[in-house]
Amino acid sequence: MAVMPVILVAGSVILAGVLALVFTVLSCFWLYRDSRLHGQPPALWVLLAVFASPIIALLLYFIFGRKAPLEPCENCGSLLTRSDRYCPACGAANGLYGQPAPKRRLGALGTAAIVCGLASVVCMAGLLAGMFVFAFSAVDTPLETTTGEFIHSSLPIESAMDVNTGWVIMSTQGHRNGVWSFSMSKTSDGYHKSGRFDLDDPHDRILAADVICEGETLELEVIQDGETVYTEALSGADGVQYFSLAGLEPGEVKLRVVNHGATDISGRIWVE
Ligand SMILES: [Zn+2]
Repeated sequence: MAVMPVILVAGSVILAGVLALVFTVLSCFWLYRDSRLHGQPPALWVLLAVFASPIIALLLYFIFGRKAPLEPCENCGSLLTRSDRYCPACGAANGLYGQPAPKRRLGALGTAAIVCGLASVVCMAGLLAGMFVFAFSAVDTPLETTTGEFIHSSLPIESAMDVNTGWVIMSTQGHRNGVWSFSMSKTSDGYHKSGRFDLDDPHDRILAADVICEGETLELEVIQDGETVYTEALSGADGVQYFSLAGLEPGEVKLRVVNHGATDISGRIWVE
């Protein structure tokens, strides 16, 4: 991954995280204040926001908690809802009984919480979209050899069944743009990795290998119909090596990279 995307990803993650934190804190303050005005237990809603999530707490609060706002009784000041016909404290008739509920305002705190929450979501969505675009653009970028030339693969090489009895340290294997890549830090003697491809024209295609390793000896076996057609040494080469496929028949070809003592292996194999 290039330097720029790393900075962008880290920046977006930090920004989204900070915004989410601010959103949580503002939501807690808003829930505390608003739930008291609606005759709800404020501690319960704040605890729910802290331990479940502010989004869950707000959602539940708007569905179940924020029903009837409390307003003071005109006679004694006790808090009443508009569904109370009489004040339970002093018995006076409630002048606001049956009237439509007043407009529910979020207030500056609630608005700030929502803005932070939305900004955090936008930030995360932007980050995901960016990573998506980056992942797809990376697939389209041609791979380069160790000497900096573009690799053009004609026939895609895939993974093949490979039964190993030995051990390997730090092993990777992948396929991109038809190129078979692998790496192994250290292995037991005879450890191998396998790939396969379907050969169409043996005289028109050539096998290319770009392998870096320390020590001896890393070998490439080219196998067809269960028989090893030829074995070439991959270790000790400088740059890309080419191997003819003219001795093979059209059809499935198996490739096996076998290690006998080489270390810090990193290679790419493809068909041109
Ligand atoms: Zn009253």
